[in-house]
Amino acid sequence: MHVNTRYLYLGGSYDLQQLFQEEDLTREVQERQSDIPARLSGMRQILASPMPPAIEPDHHCRSPYECPFWEHCTKGKPDRWVYYLPGGRYAFQRMTALGIQTIDEIPSAYPLKLLQQRVKDNVEWVGPGLQAALATVAYPVHHLDFETLGSAIPLYPNTRPYQSVPFQWSNHIETADGQLRHEAYLCSDSRDPREELAVALLESVGKQGSICTYTGYEHGVLTGLAHALPHLRSDLDHVCDRLWDLHTIVKAHYYHPAFEGSYSIKRVLPAVVPHLAYDDLEIQEGVLASLRFHRIAFGNTDSAERARIRKALLRYCERDTFGMVELRRALAIKTCANTSGRSEPISRALSRNLSPPKWGTEG
Ligand code: SF4
Repeated sequence: MHVNTRYLYLGGSYDLQQLFQEEDLTREVQERQSDIPARLSGMRQILASPMPPAIEPDHHCRSPYECPFWEHCTKGKPDRWVYYLPGGRYAFQRMTALGIQTIDEIPSAYPLKLLQQRVKDNVEWVGPGLQAALATVAYPVHHLDFETLGSAIPLYPNTRPYQSVPFQWSNHIETADGQLRHEAYLCSDSRDPREELAVALLESVGKQGSICTYTGYEHGVLTGLAHALPHLRSDLDHVCDRLWDLHTIVKAHYYHPAFEGSYSIKRVLPAVVPHLAYDDLEIQEGVLASLRFHRIAFGNTDSAERARIRKALLRYCERDTFGMVELRRALAIKTCANTSGRSEPISRALSRNLSPPKWGTEG
């Protein structure tokens, strides 16, 4: 039996016949039954042995879930272990079959994809098109981030299991003269937040300027809102038309060795804007934000705890959008230092006495 993700919850009591779906796996189970004695015997041998089995850590250690022994099993691996070359299991297996242990041992003639080559080169790279790409932004620039809740048991009418429902947004708005202001929305209770959230968002983003996001996640959330709120669809579609994805620009025009092949914001931000970490925050990642929101909206919390969690949620989401502001600023400085179009080290680029754009302060 598993959750039926096509089930549409209409409010009131749950239709359990629809929410859960039965699937007959008798044939698959019968096909595997003959393997069971041999597998049990293998497991008993492992349990009886004083030594752990000689199994090399690999991508299997993260599927379907990350194994808690990963740190232990990989502690003898070299720095720049070839496992961290982008390209997944296939690239790793090809390299290890060739006897290559570290990324630096990959022969220079070996054909690598662009991102793999950046990881192998292990130097900062500022693409000649970065300045032009950053200049495509239109002012006032909004920096938008949503937090969402996706529950296996739908919490709001007209939602399905695991559907992402936004409960919070943050928007840092940078005007053409360099001033920065912050606006935010956070649902305060267990009501369906979507309409109130969308109306507040439309007011905040207005009709002008780019809306900077990091990845296409916000586009998906806005599309979901437009679908759920037909009377706001046209306005929300216009918001989608103004989205400006900083992730795409960074991927196409910039690389830093500390990315280690990943362009996730949690990897990019500390590398490019080292002073802007998350470690001073009570909430440091999106899953925890969802859990904390669920607690204040649906759990038994007193007013003091609710106030503390609300403050932590607001600070977390605000940090995400301020991070985008600072990331754009840091990249703009790099292009000022790189107007020749050549790649150059960050230390030389930043040591030039160029004025960065004028910025306001957080919040
Ligand atoms: S990390 Fe876990 S799954 Fe991977 S080799 Fe070690 S014990 Fe096995």
